Amino acid sequence: MNKRDTEIIKGVLSGNGFSFSDKEEDADIILFNTCSVRQHAEERVFGKMGMFIKQKESNPNLILGVIGCMAKFYGKDLFKKLPGLDIICSPGNIHNLKNDLEEVMSKKESISDIKDTILYDKYNCLSIRDSKISAWVSIMEGCENFCSYCVVPYTRGKEISRSLKDILNEVKYLVNEGFKEITLLGQNVNSYSCNGSNFIDLLKLINDKTNIKRIRFTTSHPKDTSSKLFKAMSDLDKVCPHLHLPLQSGSDKILKFMNRKYTSSKYKCLIDNLRKIYPECNITTDIIVGFPTETDKDFRNTYDLMKQIKFDSSFIFKYSPRIKTKAFELEDDVTNSKKKERNNKLLELQNDISFCKNKKYVNKKINVLVEARTNKKIHTKQGSKSLKNYIGRSLDNRLIFLKGSKGLVGKEVEAKIIKATPHTLIAIESNG
Ligand code: SAH
Ligand code: SF4
Repeated sequence: MNKRDTEIIKGVLSGNGFSFSDKEEDADIILFNTCSVRQHAEERVFGKMGMFIKQKESNPNLILGVIGCMAKFYGKDLFKKLPGLDIICSPGNIHNLKNDLEEVMSKKESISDIKDTILYDKYNCLSIRDSKISAWVSIMEGCENFCSYCVVPYTRGKEISRSLKDILNEVKYLVNEGFKEITLLGQNVNSYSCNGSNFIDLLKLINDKTNIKRIRFTTSHPKDTSSKLFKAMSDLDKVCPHLHLPLQSGSDKILKFMNRKYTSSKYKCLIDNLRKIYPECNITTDIIVGFPTETDKDFRNTYDLMKQIKFDSSFIFKYSPRIKTKAFELEDDVTNSKKKERNNKLLELQNDISFCKNKKYVNKKINVLVEARTNKKIHTKQGSKSLKNYIGRSLDNRLIFLKGSKGLVGKEVEAKIIKATPHTLIAIESNG
């Protein structure tokens, strides 16, 4: 979501008298697009911003801004926390940034733009996207699930879905621009709802009415995920075989404290159904370790469930207490070293599982969408010097390093896997 917002911010500012600098030292304006999900990310912003504020002593014209979730979360208090800050702007107002900056420059006063205005104004702005091949498309904003650890409902506001027509038009525009793949974005895409249409209707519409080659989506919440979705994924030819389905914990006690609204057995049932309906689907997850009151037994339940399910990959986070959330009222009673230990155990388990799964691809041929050239050296026995190094993704979202002929960026190619690591596959373009 934040990366998508950054693309919009770049679009809003470019061509409006602003240009981008590769080096912080050369910049007249420094904007941080921030995330509040974990405290560590916020601490880094405070640290770096503090440093830039010091630089203002020697360069008083330097303009400093905090954009995104931290702006919404702390509001005007940020001016007290970071005296010298010039601008704060919430995620819903980034389409105003050009005007905000001009006001700061002309009035020489700080401004706050945190009262969200009309929904989706920002999506009507031209963006500068990171990739020319694969694009994020926001289908909804906000979240009202109030998982007890999570700050998103306080930073991104109420859940609102974008209209089918707007989404469809954006995808058609992207196809015209040469994009091959889209990822539909929302905090909880399965609860997409607009004028009687649901998420499956949206998937069908994009699948049938556009020429995009690959459709992905993230994130799904287990409470709103059902066999209907799995069936649709399997039936719709452009929807890729990958589901990111955050588990968060394998302990029913912790899941209840987290307000996740499912049990570990309900989750396992979903996975069993998915594998029955769509066996080739890659399944990834998010896990939080060290949630308040998590005992060794609770952790064991998570470990055992992960061992049973065998996710293709997972993101593992150490619990980070966030002000305003329900869980903040609970004592953060799992020590940091315990969190680290549990984090490492899960990482080790996941590494073994991922490696095992990736090794099964060796000597197989798969379809790869080539996203970019890479400087990473790819060593292959077959490696002829004339071949180029590329990075791409398989249909099921595995990261592929590929050696192939000239001009492959943006193309779907057949590739033979010659080596596996826990997190990547190494491939060589195959000529049939
Ligand atoms: N809407 C998505 C993603 C939310 S944020 C979802 O429902 O899954 C991405 C991930 O960050 C979450 O899945 C969760 O695992 C993690 N996360 C959120 N808040 C956290 C916190 N306070 N401490 C540690 N991890 C957290
Ligand atoms: Fe946060 Fe839960 Fe909403 Fe995801 S579903 S954004 S974890 S509150």
